[in-house]
Amino acid sequence: MMLVAATISRHSVARAKPTTGEYVQSFARLLQRTAGGQSFRQGSLRLIRPMTTGTGTQTPPPENFDFDYFVIGAGSGGIASARRAATYGAKVAVAEQARLGGTCVNVGCVPKKVMWNAASIAETLHDMKHYGFSTSSNNDVSFDWTFIKENRDKYIARLNSIYERNIENSGVAKLIGQASLAGNQTVQLVDQDGNSETYTAKHILIATGGVPVFPPGEGIQEHCISSDGFFELEDLPRKAAVVGAGYIAVELAGVLNALGTETKLVVRKEGAIRSFDDLLKTTLDEEMQRAGIEIYRNTNGVEKVDVNADGTKKLTLKNGEIVDDLDTVLMAPGRKPNVASLQLQSAGVQQKSGGYIKANEYSETSAEGVYAVGDVVGEVELTPTAIAAGRRLADRLFGGPQYAGAKINYELVPTVVFSHPPIGTIGLTEEEAVAKYGQDNIKVYRSRFVNLYYGHGKWNQTTNQRRP
Ligand SMILES: Cc1cc2nc3c(=O)[nH]c(=O)nc-3n(C[C@H](O)[C@H](O)[C@H](O)COP(=O)(O)OP(=O)(O)OC[C@H]3O[C@@H](n4cnc5c(N)ncnc54)[C@H](O)[C@@H]3O)c2cc1C
Repeated sequence: MMLVAATISRHSVARAKPTTGEYVQSFARLLQRTAGGQSFRQGSLRLIRPMTTGTGTQTPPPENFDFDYFVIGAGSGGIASARRAATYGAKVAVAEQARLGGTCVNVGCVPKKVMWNAASIAETLHDMKHYGFSTSSNNDVSFDWTFIKENRDKYIARLNSIYERNIENSGVAKLIGQASLAGNQTVQLVDQDGNSETYTAKHILIATGGVPVFPPGEGIQEHCISSDGFFELEDLPRKAAVVGAGYIAVELAGVLNALGTETKLVVRKEGAIRSFDDLLKTTLDEEMQRAGIEIYRNTNGVEKVDVNADGTKKLTLKNGEIVDDLDTVLMAPGRKPNVASLQLQSAGVQQKSGGYIKANEYSETSAEGVYAVGDVVGEVELTPTAIAAGRRLADRLFGGPQYAGAKINYELVPTVVFSHPPIGTIGLTEEEAVAKYGQDNIKVYRSRFVNLYYGHGKWNQTTNQRRP
């Protein structure tokens, strides 16, 4: 079954691909500009000028910038913007402090989807008898978490290399280290060994994404994992609690449950995915319970986490309920912008509620020449929107007059929740539509039906037992 509120497409952002000739030209330009024809890597950084400190907007002498465009963060938005800018002949650098590809590739969409596929296969195995398949005995299908984890990690390492090659082939200089602002046209980069370099750029893009949040509370930080930690788990937990009501919590709880973990979902209020259409959230709620996920509601959050003598964890919720004997407690209550190391005040970049960077529809921040896209601006925190915003910005800055008005539009962004069943949705929820246009001006068309997949046989019994 799939819950659909409208047509969906996650990766629907089109772009004009540069020709091979354009790639070659822009790479050749880069080689001419970099010392000795080397691309910028850790250990081969040039010290351009000493670090500037202080507050407020600082402008280095005009022109003679080291780069036309300096991108901080080689994730979805940063790489897309850097590569697009390079196709126009701009001299571009991208700085990354961790693995290339950012959240989506390393600890987000990609490994999550691999695990969702594994979970879907587990469900299909349970359904197979309805399609005439049988095995010699009911217990001879086993699941090897280590196998899928190792292969998933290898796949991601391969993607990291592909991103590296793509960056090089685009003629973008890759700089490894933690970047911060030292003015609105100056970036300081500190590498792993603490060596510091300073670069000037006509335009600076902040695309530093977000990080998982751990709520306050005794033992939470010490004894729980985040979604990042989920992808480091070496074994399938026997019993786990997932704390959170957003799409990440729902998705990871669904994966664990389908693969055989006894799964508890702990939400602060009545249910999960509260910002979604009522039809979607109530149907998903029913389906999660039918699949065996136990939902702890109106808990007000987690009070504390203790470790029992046998090493299992005990969760005390703020409404007094206890969830005990847990191997794993996965905290997924939300994410926050990754801005802590950026020294935003050095360039006069203002933040808004939640610490997100304030940026207008043209991705301009309050500091002239400093832009921000992706999760760090807290609009629609998805990979395609980060990519679209990054590319539109590069088009506008470097693509010539025909792109003078290029900007991102956050309305009508289609989205998928990889829950079990998955959800596809776009546009206003019914509640939002009523609030915007008035009840009398809204017509709601609703259809509920059994997917053809479940059309035959005695499915009700089976859906209650969809566990390996
Ligand atoms: C579990 C999970 C599942 C998800 N699933 C989906 C999905 O199915 N579909 C979808 O569209 N989205 C999904 N997302 C969201 C998606 O991953 C993000 O929206 C997207 O990665 C945001 O891109 P970005 O460019 O803003 O930041 P990121 O991709 O996070 O990249 C930011 C980069 O900046 C680097 N950085 C940060 N600070 C510095 C610094 N000071 N100096 C140098 N480098 C720095 C970081 O190391 C990182 O590599 C998921 C997220 C999570 C956590």
